[in-house]
Amino acid sequence: MAFKKQRMVKQDKDLIEDLVKISKYFGQRFDLIQAAGGNSSIKINKRMFIKSSGYSLSEVELKNGYSVLRNDKLTNFLYKIKNYIVNSRIEKKSFHILKDSIIKGDNPSIETFSHSILKKFTIHLHPIASNIISVNRESKIFFNQIFSKEISDGIIFYIKYRTPGIALATEITNHLLPYDEKIKMNKSVVLFLENHGLICSSDDKKELIKSVERIMKKFENFLNIDLKRYKFTTKISKVLWEQNYKNLVSYYSEDLILNNFLKSKNLDKILKPLNPDGLLYCGESPLIVRGPLEKNILSYIKKFHTYPRVVITGKNIYFVAPNVLKAREIEDVFKSHLYFDHYGQTKRPLLKKHINKLDSYNPQKNRLRFWFDYDK
Ligand SMILES: [Zn+2]
Repeated sequence: MAFKKQRMVKQDKDLIEDLVKISKYFGQRFDLIQAAGGNSSIKINKRMFIKSSGYSLSEVELKNGYSVLRNDKLTNFLYKIKNYIVNSRIEKKSFHILKDSIIKGDNPSIETFSHSILKKFTIHLHPIASNIISVNRESKIFFNQIFSKEISDGIIFYIKYRTPGIALATEITNHLLPYDEKIKMNKSVVLFLENHGLICSSDDKKELIKSVERIMKKFENFLNIDLKRYKFTTKISKVLWEQNYKNLVSYYSEDLILNNFLKSKNLDKILKPLNPDGLLYCGESPLIVRGPLEKNILSYIKKFHTYPRVVITGKNIYFVAPNVLKAREIEDVFKSHLYFDHYGQTKRPLLKKHINKLDSYNPQKNRLRFWFDYDK
């Protein structure tokens, strides 16, 4: 019995690790999701692990940011009401069922019902490119134009606007039901939500990622819009993930002040920390990428025995942290660093002995204590 319980826990841990991975992959990408929008889920047997409401995707961690639910309770309710018009009575009942189905956590996303009937791995996003189309009056025409093949293959579906929650979930259930067999045969399914966003679901987590990237590329090509600078966050993070910094994300900064300062700088002169917060948030030095990204990151890690918090590549600047909110804190501190640098003629950087002292000084470390969970 004890052994069985242990195995269950291990299985759950693997699942949650997958949920974290998917959530971080998409959560760092401004081109795919903004603020605390969207959600991610994984289903196994009769349970669903789903991001909790109020968290941003990149904040999902092993120990927080998600809820666990009885998925069968959700699908039973959905199938029972699928032929009814969703009125306030059904809406109220849906909140009750959602609450009643919770095994762990307290605030599952309102889109939980929509996830309940889909494949094992599901991600809901608000991508820039697909939403440029989805809010257009001609969205249906454009959609049919871009995806004629995928539509006939039962890979992508156009879902009319419905209020997020049970009304949207009912619309999705009814829309997909006639294509059930086809959807089961395909590796993934994508739902284009009018005036809202995208849902992608797959039996395989790698396929989920590929499928989203593939679909988004088609929207971007159609619009002739270039979102490379946001996608580069994935490139930075992938190198770090391979170095076992699994829980980090990268964030692309579009702060004008910061970018203007950088343009006029001799970058080699901004390398040293000027105060304790500069060291704490931005690390001992920013990484200025010259040549191949991977090689640069690896030699940084070798030199400083930690990952770079600030990555400058050409005209672009990225911040690396456990989640997007933390990355924005680094952005603040690094901007202040550039102010100090810009308005002072001569600088007095922290000396190596000060840096060493701070690095091993617990009161300083404790200010970021929950960051240290992510260090190797
Ligand atoms: Zn949404």
